[in-house]
Amino acid sequence: MKQIVTRFAPSPTGTLHIGGVRTALFNYVYAKQNQGKFLIRIEDTDIERSTKEFENNILNNLSSIGLTPDEKPINQSERNDIYIKAAEKIIESGNAYWCDCSQEDLEEMRKAQTEAGKKPMYDGRSRNLGLKRSEKTVLRLATPESGEIIVNDLIRGEIKFNNTELDDLILLRSDGSPTYHLCNVVDDYEQKVTTVIRGEDHISNTPRQIHIQNALGYPELEYAHLPLVLGTDKKRLSKRNAATSLEEYRDQGYLDSAILNTLARLGWSQGDKDVFYMDDLIKDFDIRDVQKAGAIFDITKLDWLNSQHLSDLSLDSFKEQLEPFLQKLDIDINDHEHVDLLIDSMRTSDNTFSGIARSLVPYYKDIKEYDAKALEKFVADKNLLEELKDLLSEVEDWNQDNINDVLKDFQIKKELSVPAVNQPIRISLTGSTKSPGLGLTLCLFGKEKSIDRISNLLNFLS
Ligand code: GLU
Repeated sequence: MKQIVTRFAPSPTGTLHIGGVRTALFNYVYAKQNQGKFLIRIEDTDIERSTKEFENNILNNLSSIGLTPDEKPINQSERNDIYIKAAEKIIESGNAYWCDCSQEDLEEMRKAQTEAGKKPMYDGRSRNLGLKRSEKTVLRLATPESGEIIVNDLIRGEIKFNNTELDDLILLRSDGSPTYHLCNVVDDYEQKVTTVIRGEDHISNTPRQIHIQNALGYPELEYAHLPLVLGTDKKRLSKRNAATSLEEYRDQGYLDSAILNTLARLGWSQGDKDVFYMDDLIKDFDIRDVQKAGAIFDITKLDWLNSQHLSDLSLDSFKEQLEPFLQKLDIDINDHEHVDLLIDSMRTSDNTFSGIARSLVPYYKDIKEYDAKALEKFVADKNLLEELKDLLSEVEDWNQDNINDVLKDFQIKKELSVPAVNQPIRISLTGSTKSPGLGLTLCLFGKEKSIDRISNLLNFLS
């Protein structure tokens, strides 16, 4: 059996888009589950919009997220000779012709067709003129004038295109440069690609590309056109409705594995299983089960999956990955007496590393601000906080059990609710009403600092 070869073929006209990561992921997984190869091709023929910076961004991000190609990526901009040779082969086979229609000719043609209520397209007027190549001519593919092209899409099933709907597309421009479709088809052949997995925006290109393949005598390819990635507003995912670059998600502290998991679940599911790592995907993913309808990229889903993936990390790995997020806040993770206990008790405080780092700030730095609403709700009575401070000052052996017992007794004796007693202390220590169990929180701060912080809040209030 032929070895499966897939490819991701980005145009380097922007940083790696989250939708691109999804396309690359499905190509990668499909190759790996078939013991095949995953390749990358940089489609940089549009020299005005393509940059090396974007190319490097795409390649580095793909590798660092684990979607490493099995061969060195190729660049279309360096392969002109190969495309020109292919065009010459088509000329020799009699499947292409030179056309000297000017821009004005084409515009007039389009206008007349539109006025006649027809679909505007090149009408093939130069096809039988036997024109020679000149500075004014483009090379066009002589597309069959009848019949149909049937694409057997792994996701969409059979898609039919009437050849009469397709005009004779340009293969070489008048300056001799090859066009996008020609390069794309030639490279799929040269890279021995067997399976094209790409966004559904490329469906209409497929019959055109198949005609070029046929003209060159290339073997048939397998296709899978992926549903669009939509924002929560059901419009195509764009900067307007979401962060779109992979880096933005990483900077917010989403794990690569959670990002990939979320992307894999766009339009694909397997029973009620939610959490998938790469190995699971290679085992379980089936491209034929991907739905056709656009799939919504929902940040709340990513948040949830991220929390699941975070909880699977060992404490050491969690700490290591959290460290840079704390550094951004000028915090050295080890600058705490009970660092392991602290990080372990705070690891579920938020869904992302950046959120967790933010909630750790009060444990490393003095409190600059108290949550105003929390103060209003829980610290209306300064005297109670004074009493709590005195009570805690008397605890000799500062451990969770002792602290909890003392606070519990006080709460019962005073006939107060648990939050009425606990929250003022919590607010003193962390500035907010959120923290791990109060006994644990007080231990994380230690006796001296806990008492100090209660004094600070008392000062702040007076
Ligand atoms: N270069 C095209 C793009 O970035 C992909 C073409 C393909 O996958 O065939 O959309």
